[in-house]
Amino acid sequence: MTDQTADPSALRTSYRDLTCGEARAEHVGRTVSLSGWVHRRRDMGQLIFIDLRDRHGMTQVVVDAAQSPLAHAALSEVRNEYVLAVRGEVARRLAGTENARLATGEIELRAAEVRVLSSARTPPFPVNEPGASIDEALRLRHRYLDLRREELNARLVARSRLLRAISDVHHAHGFVEVETPILIKATPEGARDFIVPSRLQPGNVYALPQSPQQLKQLLMVAGFDRYFQIAHCMRDEDMRADRGPEFTQLDLEMSFVGQDDVMGFVEMMVTEVSRAVVPGRPIRQSPFPRFTFREALDRFGSDKPDVRFGMELVDVGAVVEGSGFRVFDSVLAEGGRVVAIAAPGMADASRSQVDELVERAKRAGAKGLVHIAVRADGLHSPVLNALGQERAQALVEAVGGSVGDLVLVVADHDIVAQEALGALRAELGERLGLVQDPNELAYAWVYEFPMYQWDDEGRRWDATHNPFSGVLPEDEELLATASGDPSQPSPEDPAGRARALQYDIVLNGWELGGGSIRIHRRDLLERSFALMGHSIESMRDKFGALLDAFEYGAPPHGGIALGIDRWAARLLQQENIREVMAFPKTGAGSDLMLGAPSPVDPAQLDELGLMLKPRGRAEADRTG
Ligand code: ASP
Repeated sequence: MTDQTADPSALRTSYRDLTCGEARAEHVGRTVSLSGWVHRRRDMGQLIFIDLRDRHGMTQVVVDAAQSPLAHAALSEVRNEYVLAVRGEVARRLAGTENARLATGEIELRAAEVRVLSSARTPPFPVNEPGASIDEALRLRHRYLDLRREELNARLVARSRLLRAISDVHHAHGFVEVETPILIKATPEGARDFIVPSRLQPGNVYALPQSPQQLKQLLMVAGFDRYFQIAHCMRDEDMRADRGPEFTQLDLEMSFVGQDDVMGFVEMMVTEVSRAVVPGRPIRQSPFPRFTFREALDRFGSDKPDVRFGMELVDVGAVVEGSGFRVFDSVLAEGGRVVAIAAPGMADASRSQVDELVERAKRAGAKGLVHIAVRADGLHSPVLNALGQERAQALVEAVGGSVGDLVLVVADHDIVAQEALGALRAELGERLGLVQDPNELAYAWVYEFPMYQWDDEGRRWDATHNPFSGVLPEDEELLATASGDPSQPSPEDPAGRARALQYDIVLNGWELGGGSIRIHRRDLLERSFALMGHSIESMRDKFGALLDAFEYGAPPHGGIALGIDRWAARLLQQENIREVMAFPKTGAGSDLMLGAPSPVDPAQLDELGLMLKPRGRAEADRTG
């Protein structure tokens, strides 16, 4: 549990000479004080044993009634999780009673004095049973007890190592750490803002940062050519396993850089940090593999591909074209895609297993899923007749299917088809055990994303990632509307084909972060914002400072942000980011320990000049 880099003597205080993890045979004969929590207590009558614990480890303390009657009396009252200070001699344990699993297992402390520093109620769940399954709500309500448990304690210590390694690498490479404010004006990252009403300026609000995006770009204009920050970001979104309303990101920005400069630095930094935090986990491939968005989509059906296993998608459109099978033919006639994967060992999947896959594909947006089982006695599929034996065989061959495989096929619009099958690939990869070495860290880059995607409802182009992203130089002329009027975007605009200088970094199938080379020219940024449906007034209102700043000499710049919660979760092999956060919120955004959010005090509302609508009214107004 101990942070290996700390000098133990630095931890000495008036309450302790050693931590509970420190005493060894070399200390035998010395009289020392220890302080900590009662991990376990065994009362043998004349002898009472206690395992005294702090976050550094555990020491066995023993008191003999004959030798130390007062200490013995004090220990008789003590229960688990009491906080004690004990003083006594370090002694070698009796031969045969050593505990090899404990770093202090050769010795024990023969206590002459025991002071109860704090008593404890019986905890609502065992603190001293690693791996115990405990209701998460209970853990969150008593997080201070949960954090005492070895697993969580070790994870937070590892997270601290992560933050330190990040800081070390950045400082060693000329970055300046700058804090940016929490009360700011909205910077859109595609989510809802949390807002804070201003008392001094009634009717006005601050927004909590979804990211420090505009501020870090302004720092570049200010000449800080390399900035980083461990930034708290707030986005009013629903909680998922890899996302919460409040999260921490490593935010960085660099000047006088192109895409390869940023990716190169980040790759080096990520490699050094990974080695520092989890030295036992190998990086699968260095340099990290790079895929264009198009390639990632076509091969893995995902812009955050898990590259630890194959089972790649194969476009079988050419193989099945003209088969007479209506589902495939109509999709191909409309310019859609027919894509397939071969899932090894699944040829004998039961009906309900297949149904489950179909459901999963539908949830990922597909209209359906075709399956062909490759068995020793031939192909089996509900569509065998419609597709024809020969075509089915050709399809199976195209996807490299062999006996024992279940070939899964999705026919749909471009992107929808790949993403639906990609969702199955990701899930089956884990489930079928295709990840050979779960210890490996498979980092990868995805780049060259489309700049925009059409928003039919808003009749505008939305940035696929970051609204400040630059465009590939050869695509710059595409940032235009078909009509020629910049304020009238339409789905036919050349802008739909423009590719962004945007890159995402992926780790074991999770998006770890994303960034871009930014637009640093006012005219071009205004052109891009117009495509995103902004009027000149709305641009001034939302991005005025940045647009103005670009008129005072802006260096070419770019950066990235990496999710610290996700990174820590991936490095520490956790599936849920809550497991690497000290005080996380629930799925509904509640802090169960502090009881937030909580009803607002009417006096506070008064001061802010605010009034709450009655609940029913507010909902009716919202749903119109
Ligand atoms: N601001 C972006 C985000 O929070 C990251 C970046 O482009 O640097 O996702």
